[in-house]
Amino acid sequence: MKTLLGTLLLTVTSLSAFDYALKPVRVTPDVHCFFGKPEIMDKTNNGNIVNSCYIDAGEGYVVVDTGPSYAYAESAYKEMKKIKSLPVKLVINTHIHDDHWLGNGFFTQSGVSVVGSDDFLHNVNVQEATRMQNTISPAAYKGTVSTLPTEIISETTRKKVGNQDIELKIIPRTAHSTKDLVVYLPKSGVLFAGDLVFNDRLPSVKGGNINGWITTLEELESMGALHIIGGHGRNTEKNSSKMTHEYLTQMRSEIRLAIDSGLGIDETIKKVQMAEYRKIKLYDSMQSGNVEASYRVLEWE
Ligand SMILES: [Zn+2]
Repeated sequence: MKTLLGTLLLTVTSLSAFDYALKPVRVTPDVHCFFGKPEIMDKTNNGNIVNSCYIDAGEGYVVVDTGPSYAYAESAYKEMKKIKSLPVKLVINTHIHDDHWLGNGFFTQSGVSVVGSDDFLHNVNVQEATRMQNTISPAAYKGTVSTLPTEIISETTRKKVGNQDIELKIIPRTAHSTKDLVVYLPKSGVLFAGDLVFNDRLPSVKGGNINGWITTLEELESMGALHIIGGHGRNTEKNSSKMTHEYLTQMRSEIRLAIDSGLGIDETIKKVQMAEYRKIKLYDSMQSGNVEASYRVLEWE
């Protein structure tokens, strides 16, 4: 009897898709987001460490970033349909890091267009196993297929979807990644900044450029958005870029001082501890890598 029950339970579990138990949060009347945990991806959070947002365009949704897996995208959309049962009209990917777009396949299977920058063509290899595949549980990854954007853009583009004018702004320099894309809604003043803005955890600078990132944040802050939604973290206020901006600026001046006084990379990593950020999550896994990546940029100045 025990075995029979076990078999039955197993059958039920394997038939149903992995459920991330996601809860949407209303940011404005036309924007809901799923906010990921301020953690490193692992087999417990299954990549639910990233933000994914839904824009209500009247006749349908526009999705900004699709999360870490097929099952994540499916779970999120299931929750959004409970709020308003709308079809997804368009998907946008902010950048090439895999926690932001591995849910694409859930949408493209029903013919939805996915827009992303040409960085996907240059810097993503869909034949390779993804970092996510090697990190989260097989049950959560199941059904995920690396699916590139179906519409590649290389410059700033405007799109009209339902009652929303959507600005897809390409950042013309390496900042958080080699080519970041931000999304602006003029109607409600919401700026989706992707990973140019982090909160609740330390940013990741690896693969980016500290100078380009700071310049980009200055530009984004001058746009006058009423809400800035980052790729990680729950802060959606208009000044939500403050933590990232201050952290990068302080790190840059400390590294420049170290370089000026003749310190090598290892000594600089030891010196630039930025103790006041120690209490912020992921400090231990990010700080030395961030200093190292930034040193390699700043040593050429
Ligand atoms: Zn990223």
